[in-house]
Amino acid sequence: ATPTALMVGTGRSAKMGILIKNGEVLEAVNDVKTVVFDKTGTITVGKPEVTNVIGDEKAVLELATGLEQSSEQPLASAIVKRAEENKISVPAVSNFQAIEGKGVEAKVNGQKAFVGNDKLLEDVEIDSEMKQQVTTLQEEAKTVVFVGIDNKVIGLIAIQDTPKETSKEAIADLKARGLKTVMLTGDNQLVAEAIAKQVGIDEVIADVLPSDKADHVKSLQESGKVAFVGDGINDAPALTVADVGIAMGSGTDIAIESGGIVLVKNDLRDVDKALALSKKTFNRIK
Ligand code: ADP
Repeated sequence: ATPTALMVGTGRSAKMGILIKNGEVLEAVNDVKTVVFDKTGTITVGKPEVTNVIGDEKAVLELATGLEQSSEQPLASAIVKRAEENKISVPAVSNFQAIEGKGVEAKVNGQKAFVGNDKLLEDVEIDSEMKQQVTTLQEEAKTVVFVGIDNKVIGLIAIQDTPKETSKEAIADLKARGLKTVMLTGDNQLVAEAIAKQVGIDEVIADVLPSDKADHVKSLQESGKVAFVGDGINDAPALTVADVGIAMGSGTDIAIESGGIVLVKNDLRDVDKALALSKKTFNRIK
């Protein structure tokens, strides 16, 4: 009877837009204790927008866009979009380099220019007024990047990505089921905490390098089975390592390939539905 019940279960879920790829997933779901979420594009809409430019707006956007044109990070798209709206002219850059978890660098007029977070600013002085501005923006759930050239910061860009409409309800459903919820992100601690607070996430693990996401999932597995929900190229290893990998249907191909469950409708509330449905199906075939 096992295969039939399995197919009925997965057939019904498929109609709801929840694709369950194999029986192993159904088995693991029963013991899941923790649900871990990627932030950008999973909890948030994934379409960040520039909200503030501090400094000489034109100069800051010109330099930043010169560098970010070559980047595929969602933050980069937000900056390029804002520059296009402002009809900014972009300087020529060479020696472009993306630095994992930090930002981007390139040569502009023979000098080293940069856009990124504070980890990129090894030898750069930031005065206390600017530090305070950064903290204030981060507490408003805005990601702040520093823009500079020749070891000097010329300005800041704050970028906001808002939670999906259903994220809060989705998290509440999981917590009501007794599950612990965790957000895993490369973004700054203050920004991550602000977003976690908006949607009711229990725990935040911030400043995580893409290559370290899977290791964090492994540590969380020490206290029980873990479901990981994500959408990006970065998330593929974590989706694979997790006991239950849940990919957003809007995600990158590699994320979708790595997930045991795919949420076609991109509705985070389907995480809870998928868990409930898998449990039902599993208990029927047990
Ligand atoms: P995530 O996808 O979880 O945000 P990333 O490792 O891509 O993780 O980014 C982590 C942080 O590194 C960003 O929040 C930002 O501060 C910085 N960063 C990464 N890429 C860029 C970029 N192209 N421009 C500016 N900052 C960047």
